Amino acid sequence: MTQRTVLSRGRLSSGREVDLAIDSESGRIVEVGTISLQPSDKVEDCHDMVILPAPVEIHAHLDKALLNQNLPYDLNPTGDLDGAISAMQSIDLTSQDVFRRAKQAVLEMIKNGTTTVRSHVDIRDPIGTSSLRALMELSTWLTESKLGTLQLSCLMGRQLSGREGKRNRALLEESIELGVDVVGGCPYLDDNPKEALKVLLDAAMEAGRPIDLHTDETLDKDIFTLQHLVDEVDRRGVGAGVTASHCVSLSMQPEKTQLEIANRLAETGISIAVLPQTNLYLQARGINQAPPRGIAPAKLLIQAGVNVAAGADNVQDPFCPVGRLDALETASMLVLGAHLNPDVAWEACSNSSRRALGMEEITFAVGNQADLLVVSGKDLRSAITQATPDRLVIHKGKVVSRTKVSSSMSI
Ligand SMILES: [Zn+2]
Repeated sequence: MTQRTVLSRGRLSSGREVDLAIDSESGRIVEVGTISLQPSDKVEDCHDMVILPAPVEIHAHLDKALLNQNLPYDLNPTGDLDGAISAMQSIDLTSQDVFRRAKQAVLEMIKNGTTTVRSHVDIRDPIGTSSLRALMELSTWLTESKLGTLQLSCLMGRQLSGREGKRNRALLEESIELGVDVVGGCPYLDDNPKEALKVLLDAAMEAGRPIDLHTDETLDKDIFTLQHLVDEVDRRGVGAGVTASHCVSLSMQPEKTQLEIANRLAETGISIAVLPQTNLYLQARGINQAPPRGIAPAKLLIQAGVNVAAGADNVQDPFCPVGRLDALETASMLVLGAHLNPDVAWEACSNSSRRALGMEEITFAVGNQADLLVVSGKDLRSAITQATPDRLVIHKGKVVSRTKVSSSMSI
């Protein structure tokens, strides 16, 4: 028998106390309940800690993460999306700096429990595919070090259609040849969104890759390309593996339209990535009376049966100056900004995101993969509320990070 790691006296999200044994070789759960320890067991005391399915970061921008460490805060003086895009164009990104910051960010995520990450990466002139190459190197390093998994999606420059899109189409081809995991872009920003969507879907289908599109990141309800995406995916019959990120303008549509789209998203199998952190920061600038939240209507979508994933998007860069690289923070924002219950919020940050990536879900049944976050708290709600650094992170059955804090107070 191989060695087991036993999580002793941990709590499930409901607060129920259990022991959980993981086979070190297969990385799978082999026993749940009250466990009789074997002499070879490695025991982790999880008393007063909650055992959760490990979160997934469905939507990071590791090439931009932590840029604010070296930049003035007011690089994006308008604080909106256009201001952030302009700010990025004024920054000289070198692949060494991209690698360094991305590694720092991803290690912080792992420390916080997120061992699976999908990152978008800018592909445009003058940087071409240099950031992609740097992040591919990081992805290989992470896999080899067995700390986590990094999936990369190209984020193509805004113009893909017509004569002006020729260079970006060539860069898309180059990215696919290099081995980018996911095809992505912002077709809603193109002069011809329908054509840009076709370019991206054709490329993804031809290469057999999933697709993840920045979609309608605007409060302008007349920009509503999500409809074209649903039509096109429906026509091609390729819903699984398609993710629409942001969908801000969906939040501005009449409820009847939202419900119609939600039903069609559920039918086609398209996942929606809800991104409260950056949307709250960039959207509704200058609106003082009843500012919209700019968050896709997560609750309505979930009720319609849509797979709703959630992520943090930008962290400490011109698109969002704050963020802890911690899924418990994203879950808290979903509770506050999207009115999800804590358990539904955590599902969006963990298993729904895994479904969007086509990954096996994490449950606490025997035989399931042990990708787990163990964090101080008496139940899920208290874990999200406190979000203490006291954590044990398990990836494929192995402890990859352990953080212990102690405090004392003189009274
Ligand atoms: Zn994004």
